[in-house]
Amino acid sequence: MAGKTLKTEAVVLRGIRYGEADRILHLYSAKRGRIGAIAKGVRRPKSRFGGRLEPFFRLDLILHEGRGELLTVTNVATVDGYPRLRSSGPALTAAARACDAVLRLLDSAEPNPPAYNLLCRYLAILDDHSAGRGMGLETALSFRLKLALAAGFVPELASCARCGEADHLTGFSGAAGGVVCASCEAASFPLAEEAHRFMVEAIARPLAEAPSAEERALRQVERAIGETLEHHAHVQLRAAA
Ligand SMILES: [Zn+2]
Repeated sequence: MAGKTLKTEAVVLRGIRYGEADRILHLYSAKRGRIGAIAKGVRRPKSRFGGRLEPFFRLDLILHEGRGELLTVTNVATVDGYPRLRSSGPALTAAARACDAVLRLLDSAEPNPPAYNLLCRYLAILDDHSAGRGMGLETALSFRLKLALAAGFVPELASCARCGEADHLTGFSGAAGGVVCASCEAASFPLAEEAHRFMVEAIARPLAEAPSAEERALRQVERAIGETLEHHAHVQLRAAA
């Protein structure tokens, strides 16, 4: 077979049925960022791929790279199937939203180790949801902030994104790309101190230790991330939860 071989770890973000028994996969890989691949015969009952080429599986893959746009899966081993995640509706929903955000925000074929590790970390937290933590909006939004950071679109949180003022940061402007002060408030929305603090702390802390905040503040955080990414990454994310 002409072409090259790529060995990489990857997470399955999405799978689409194709033809009689194949599946097209959107993968987020450790070595090459976003990859599109085809798994031939995967939907046959006796496929050697088993049930592993499904969303949220973390896999060791060998792919064949021919002339086409899609790589062909030639070998698969499971790194982690996150079985407990799969038995919980809320965890599945959270995982689907996380993978959807990765699909929308990270579409380049460049490796992004912080983004890859963050995705794997979040799936592991959702898999270990026995403690009850990790399923909520706090962790979902912390993931989203860290993902924005890994993609290079973190909002300015330290001082007014328009004038640099460090105090009286009472608004958030997606267009300006961060918090804004009282005199630069035009085209911003009010940002509670609690929401501001949540973002600063969420970025500084490990994902598993997401800070807590009231629902109202969390919705402001969600809006702040959403408007930043709309203005600067030209990406619209689905609701976080
Ligand atoms: Zn200002």
